[in-house]
Amino acid sequence: MGRLILVLLGKQGAGKGTQATRLAQTLSIPHVSTGDILRAAIREGTPLGLEVKAVLESGALVSDDLVNRLVAERLTQPDAVRGALFDGYPRTLNQAEALEVMLGDDGVKLCVDLEVPVELVTARLSARRVCSNCGAIYRASDPEGVSGRCSTCGGPVVQRADDQPAAIAERLAAYERDTAPLLDFYRDRGLLVSVDGARAPDEVTASIAAALSTRGLARS
Ligand SMILES: [Zn+2]
Repeated sequence: MGRLILVLLGKQGAGKGTQATRLAQTLSIPHVSTGDILRAAIREGTPLGLEVKAVLESGALVSDDLVNRLVAERLTQPDAVRGALFDGYPRTLNQAEALEVMLGDDGVKLCVDLEVPVELVTARLSARRVCSNCGAIYRASDPEGVSGRCSTCGGPVVQRADDQPAAIAERLAAYERDTAPLLDFYRDRGLLVSVDGARAPDEVTASIAAALSTRGLARS
């Protein structure tokens, strides 16, 4: 088998992060999230990192082209020889087309879409609370959410502006606009599998594993 390149799609709050971490570990491939690559490039001060830093400091959005170049660079790192699990990339049709060119014949093997109804992700995101000191994530109903105090570091546990209703609606609309067309892109190539992401995380993981296995992509 060639390189195992997987793409995980799903709205914010669909549980992509949890599933991506588990899958990457099971499959021994790196979990590649756009946020992580951007932060790593800035931290390491690579030429692309300096470019990203300048863009972000100017208040602009990082362009598709810059993200594509960062991903291309990430794919040349030794741990990506076996493959990679993308989470948050591609985010637009433009990026999906660039990834296809980047990978050539040894392309994306499967795109998993975590389907979760808008009402459920909205409920999940509105219930999210974050420690503003250490970044620990809680739910509004957790003791930390109720008391407003982090059990790890004692810091204040708050609701981020991003997780308030208007901001959630805006993020979901952006997802529909930019990312939903990717479903057709991968469906047309016979690479799309939709998984019901509204179930318990273990059940979702089992469904994804079954889809990989069916396609001969599971690794022992
Ligand atoms: Zn904390």
